[in-house]
Amino acid sequence: MKIAVIGTGYVGLVTGTCFAETGNTVTCVDIDINKVEKLKSGKITIYEPGLEQLFERNLKQQRLFFTTDLAEGIKDAQIIFLALPTPPGEDGSADLKYILKVADDLGPLLRSFSVIVDKSTVPVGTAERVRDRIAANAKVEFSVVSNPEFLREGVAVEDFMKPDRVVIGTTSEKAKKVMEQLYAPFVRQGNPIIFMDERSAELTKYAANSFLATKITFMNEIANLCELMGADVDAVRKGIGTDSRIGKRFLFPGIGYGGSCFPKDVQALAKSSKDAAYDFKILNAVMDVNASQKTKLIAAIKHYFKNSLEGKTVAVWGLAFKPHTDDIREAPALENIESLLSEGAIVKVSDPEAMENVKTIFGSKIQFCENPYEAAKDADALFIATEWPEFRTPDFEKLSTLLNNKAIFDGRNLYDLQQMRELGYTYYSIGREVIN
Ligand code: NAD
Repeated sequence: MKIAVIGTGYVGLVTGTCFAETGNTVTCVDIDINKVEKLKSGKITIYEPGLEQLFERNLKQQRLFFTTDLAEGIKDAQIIFLALPTPPGEDGSADLKYILKVADDLGPLLRSFSVIVDKSTVPVGTAERVRDRIAANAKVEFSVVSNPEFLREGVAVEDFMKPDRVVIGTTSEKAKKVMEQLYAPFVRQGNPIIFMDERSAELTKYAANSFLATKITFMNEIANLCELMGADVDAVRKGIGTDSRIGKRFLFPGIGYGGSCFPKDVQALAKSSKDAAYDFKILNAVMDVNASQKTKLIAAIKHYFKNSLEGKTVAVWGLAFKPHTDDIREAPALENIESLLSEGAIVKVSDPEAMENVKTIFGSKIQFCENPYEAAKDADALFIATEWPEFRTPDFEKLSTLLNNKAIFDGRNLYDLQQMRELGYTYYSIGREVIN
């Protein structure tokens, strides 16, 4: 099939590349000239495990193209994906300006029946709005379908190629057939394509992300309670996770959720609920708890340094909002660095993939280090913000000689308490005993 993908960010580039991988001819469109030029010249613009190889192969085999020209991009496309940003507006609702602008632009450009597929996360009713905006200028038949994306950054290629499920919202039989054919290679192992109406598909995405954010937040509250009650969250986690109704995943406490999706999607669902005259109380609590959870270790660091961080050097391991990505949107590390700087601390950071992105925010206000040990050198404390695998088993002997103080503030519970005790560290983590 001939496919166009409008918006070539994390979702658009993965979507375009993976559809090319199954033999389709894909043109990705973006308004960012630098991004398009880079991609055209064979350079990948995001870090996502496994993507570069697929990108290079499909580029070489001429199944994957890039352009800034919408008309050229959608020429002869049977399916047009919208993978555009839906950032939070001032009132917390999803800002649809990018989606509606492209809908306006698409109308006059359509030449034959096309299926326009919304892959962005959008509020209920958006498919109808997009349909109306396109219809205002279109001279041919078209369908607007909702196909929310569930990929996780860090494992996006795997998620896209072997999705747990594909959700498609459409009431058009013609569009349903096209989408079924497109996704057939991705569900060969028997995972379902779940068809539903557009509104239900749109709400499914918000329900999934809000549920997951709530699950994490619930566990963070249990962890906070463990600290007050002298219980160990690891034990509690295992104790409840083995119940198949609860499940083992998404039960790890930490310094809050971040990223480009959970914070904005929880906020947007809370706002849509309010607009529908429904007070979604749990979501408001989730947002409140997450906001305080993010910087909860700052109080512990201050306590350790007798209330003053002035002139203290803190090494920060991990900047990305989670491992295996360079995405730093809403990453807890950023807020913590901000707090450390405002308390007068000197901050040295290390992250395997996200340093370039963080340079655009903090510039020379913090020190960027080649590796975790360089960051730890002469630091008065170590703060862990992201659970990159390489932080899990550091050379503690080396680390101990580099740090001025053997103090670790671990927002991701990477280390064993007994080991920290034996190594003589002061060790603060989440929901577990403080080792002093
Ligand atoms: P992104 O910011 O990485 O990419 C969006 C791209 O759209 C950018 O490259 C931007 O330049 C481009 N763009 C903006 N206006 C354009 C226009 N008029 N024409 C062409 N291109 C234009 O965003 P993302 O992370 O890929 O997210 C896209 C959507 O997918 C959002 O709604 C998001 O909520 C949703 N989503 C994201 C993820 C994720 O993990 N990132 C997962 C599932 C769903």
